[in-house]
Amino acid sequence: MASQTGSIVQHSLDALLEDETFLPDLKEQDRQQAFTSLTAILSTPNHIHKSFLRIALENGKVVRIPSFRVQHNNTLGPYKGGIRFHESVNEDEVTNLASLMTLKNALHEVPFGGGKGGVVLNPRNYSVIELHQICKKYVHYFSDILGPDKDIPAPDMGTGDREMDWMMAEYKSIRPGATYRGSFTGKSIINGGSLGRREATGKGVYFTYRYMMSDFLNENREWLDAQENPFAQTALDQDGKPLKMAVQGFGNVGSVAALEAYRCSYLNNKIVAVSDRNVTLYNPEGLDIPALVEFTDKNEGDLPTTEAELNGLEMKADILDREKVLYLDVDVLVLAALEDQIHKDNVEQVKAKIVVEGANAPVTGEADEYLADNGVIIVPDILANAGGVIVSYFEWLQGRETQFYSEEQVYDMLFEKMQSTMDTILPQFFGDPFPLRQNCYIHAVMKLSTVLFRQGKLY
Ligand code: NAD
Repeated sequence: MASQTGSIVQHSLDALLEDETFLPDLKEQDRQQAFTSLTAILSTPNHIHKSFLRIALENGKVVRIPSFRVQHNNTLGPYKGGIRFHESVNEDEVTNLASLMTLKNALHEVPFGGGKGGVVLNPRNYSVIELHQICKKYVHYFSDILGPDKDIPAPDMGTGDREMDWMMAEYKSIRPGATYRGSFTGKSIINGGSLGRREATGKGVYFTYRYMMSDFLNENREWLDAQENPFAQTALDQDGKPLKMAVQGFGNVGSVAALEAYRCSYLNNKIVAVSDRNVTLYNPEGLDIPALVEFTDKNEGDLPTTEAELNGLEMKADILDREKVLYLDVDVLVLAALEDQIHKDNVEQVKAKIVVEGANAPVTGEADEYLADNGVIIVPDILANAGGVIVSYFEWLQGRETQFYSEEQVYDMLFEKMQSTMDTILPQFFGDPFPLRQNCYIHAVMKLSTVLFRQGKLY
């Protein structure tokens, strides 16, 4: 993942230097100098904070758990990004995820910078009491750098509204009298969370694909036809067809995206496969997604893994290995599980012509290049999965105003924001030879460079 983000940011920066709209008023030498400053700023985080959380376990042992908070860039506003609880968390991963947050917020005009946190543990190995201690210690150790106007964490893998409620409560205890509702987002509704936050990422993921393949395509069919661009051809090739879709990951993001696709009246989707950490379920005639959502709700998030469980749902499906979801004969593949799922060793087996990134960085740099060379449209993470941070921004606003929006208002505002980004990016993408990811990065970097330049920070 490190190499993918780094190399594409570098590519985007190089493309930016060729772009006449990048700081057009500057003379060549000044422009080059501003560009060098920008590269230095974006390729390094502002701060890497690291602590070993000291926790007394219920069995009496004391352990020290490595934890991080990386603050990549706050040009556009307070640092913002989730806290991940996972065994594989490390400093490089957290730093890369923090830089993705900087770009994501810049792309969607969200007035936040980029940050990310992580604790190296598997939450399944700790009791609720121990997890509570870990959350409190995290806030305690990093309390000087967190806050509604400094750095606002949210949930990520391994954390959810319970952890955010605990963390906000600890922040409130440490800073009595300070405003606290905006210190964490992704909280429970009763503790100031936003309606629609849980569904926001999955809904946004589906929206980006639907908007491109329905609204945008319908309005621009003739124009697209005139473009000598393989990606325009890919989109037109799918036009009007029943679209076979596979979804990797059936958690918060994947299950909501699958349900949206299943219910969508704009496109003729057929969800033929879904997968999770245990299995792939495949039926070329289509799967009953609402029934599977109901099943996972009752079974700790896991899909059925046996014929008996499928029979109980009166459902027919082949039970395949979990990675088979990536290689099925489908038109659209939604990746909503983990990083680095499509890589140089398996990319040639991928048959989908559209790949939508619900997870962060699920396609490695080499695989990304291979797919783009073959005309596959990849809707990148920073475009597709920003629904969570956009609704987090609404939650932060609601916390400040202590006035709350209805679920309908939240979704209307979410789609309006994502549509505005798509309306800027899609004409550029289909009109030039760069993949969609690079277009998004260029747009985000352009925004950051203009703000930095006008603040006098590039010279
Ligand atoms: P989740 O924990 O709710 O769901 C993850 C799903 O992936 C589960 O169905 C799990 O069984 C499955 N999975 C785990 N390992 C797998 C494997 N090896 N192969 C296939 N499936 C596997 O997580 P989520 O909130 O849905 O997040 C999914 C991804 O999206 C993560 O990478 C996360 O960082 C990213 N993301 C989430 C949000 C958000 O708001 N939730 C926002 C932006 C990005």
